[in-house]
Amino acid sequence: MDPIIAGNWKMNKDPAESRSLVQNLLELISDVKNRKVILIPPFTSLPIVAEVIRNSNVKLGAQNMYWERSGAYTGEISGLFLKSLGCEYVVIGHSERRHIMGETDEMLNKKLKTALEIGLIAIFCVGETEKEKEQGMTEQVISRQLKQGLKDIENEAHKIVFAYEPVWAIGTGKTATPQQVVDVHKFIRAQLIKKKSTILYGGSVKPENIDTLMHEQEIEGVLVGGASLKPESFARIIKFSIT
Ligand code: PEP
Repeated sequence: MDPIIAGNWKMNKDPAESRSLVQNLLELISDVKNRKVILIPPFTSLPIVAEVIRNSNVKLGAQNMYWERSGAYTGEISGLFLKSLGCEYVVIGHSERRHIMGETDEMLNKKLKTALEIGLIAIFCVGETEKEKEQGMTEQVISRQLKQGLKDIENEAHKIVFAYEPVWAIGTGKTATPQQVVDVHKFIRAQLIKKKSTILYGGSVKPENIDTLMHEQEIEGVLVGGASLKPESFARIIKFSIT
């Protein structure tokens, strides 16, 4: 399967800036083959990004969704609306949602169930904080996030894309070493009933470290934050080379 290179723009880029970013990116990657590129802009930019990527192989994803399909949930977004805008993917459980917005394993489990039911591919993020890492709790934390996040849907986990995103590496410039990532990816795979899920790494991925990370077979792609906001750096990441 082609490696996944997903760009999470977080709360950056208004619609006009989004159009320009995608147009520039598409020009830079027009010759790229064998990569699955997913753009994950803010909700307000989904329509414009969908329009610009229409005749390309680039896929669209959203940063979050609510677990109900519709109703009195002011400020929330239904996964069905995301699908109607052309999204194929949705990020569930990003560390900023867990740690800033207070989303719990139980809430993420409901979101994963709904994503599966409505046919959106969830990119489910797991990862430990710096403190948990220092306390040697990485496996314990990830095991809990997987167990509770996948409650009642363990048998469908192969339809979910997992992203190991150590919180201490997100937006900090600190990247996990390829060996650290490989160890955790193997641990995640060992927890899954069916071992077929795609597992990505995220945490300060940039042009300078992408080649070394992708050298590892266990790393099947990356989820990129900051470095996906500039067309040149994201294009370089997409064009990684492992020779
Ligand atoms: C992310 O947003 O998922 C992420 C990994 O961010 P960054 O690449 O900026 O660390």
